[in-house]
Amino acid sequence: MLITVKGIVVGRREVGESGCFLDVFTDRAGLIEVMAHGAKKIGGSNLAASSMFAYAEFCLSKKGTRYTINSTRPIYTFHDISKSIEAFSLAAYFADIIKYCATSEEDHSELLRFVCMAFYQLEKGKRPINFIKAVFEFRFITHIGFMPDLRACQECASYLDDVMYFLPSEGMIFCSNCYTKLAFTRNKDAYELDPTLLHIMRYVAYSDTEKMFKFRISEKYEQRFGEITEAYIEAQLETSFNTLKYYKDVLAEY
Ligand SMILES: [Zn+2]
Repeated sequence: MLITVKGIVVGRREVGESGCFLDVFTDRAGLIEVMAHGAKKIGGSNLAASSMFAYAEFCLSKKGTRYTINSTRPIYTFHDISKSIEAFSLAAYFADIIKYCATSEEDHSELLRFVCMAFYQLEKGKRPINFIKAVFEFRFITHIGFMPDLRACQECASYLDDVMYFLPSEGMIFCSNCYTKLAFTRNKDAYELDPTLLHIMRYVAYSDTEKMFKFRISEKYEQRFGEITEAYIEAQLETSFNTLKYYKDVLAEY
């Protein structure tokens, strides 16, 4: 069976002399592993579409759950990401999150669009890198199956308070009254949210994809939002990523 998908390469393993396996995050088939024969051949027709972070159209033949490349049409290679070690290491962390969370045989057109937008921001380098990181972390995982309930206090349904609390492990918010009153919230990690911070979280979780990198926040909120997105990922996925550690080492060094 032949299928055509659009997708971005988020993993690559060499096989033999000239072939490789690619992990491709696609629009119509979710995350799939694809065999690319001759992907390393100079001048080979699949060379450009087989490089890390390449965005391309893939015509694949499918046998059972195995995919092999028939032909490719590169759309955009995000080649300039590799010009900055910060951007490149952050892109590797994004790729790890995608590989960890995404499943196959699912339609992820909208998320793929978002991933391309994030990689585009990384390549252009016009927005603060930790802003791109926080928006990616929160948007991607809320839309891949880990949507928190940020609409109102879980207990009394109040929509806004001077201070509210976000519990990453539960993905819930509480007003300060309920937070203090409830025994349930004790001994859990909680993050204080002022109205601005809560607004940022709601915006990234609930707004349309095209609005994702079009807002600005101060450095203070960028940092606080970033602490929350990292804590949320760690609490929900119950894992930590070496690529995140590497990214932080790189930032500390340069
Ligand atoms: Zn409440």
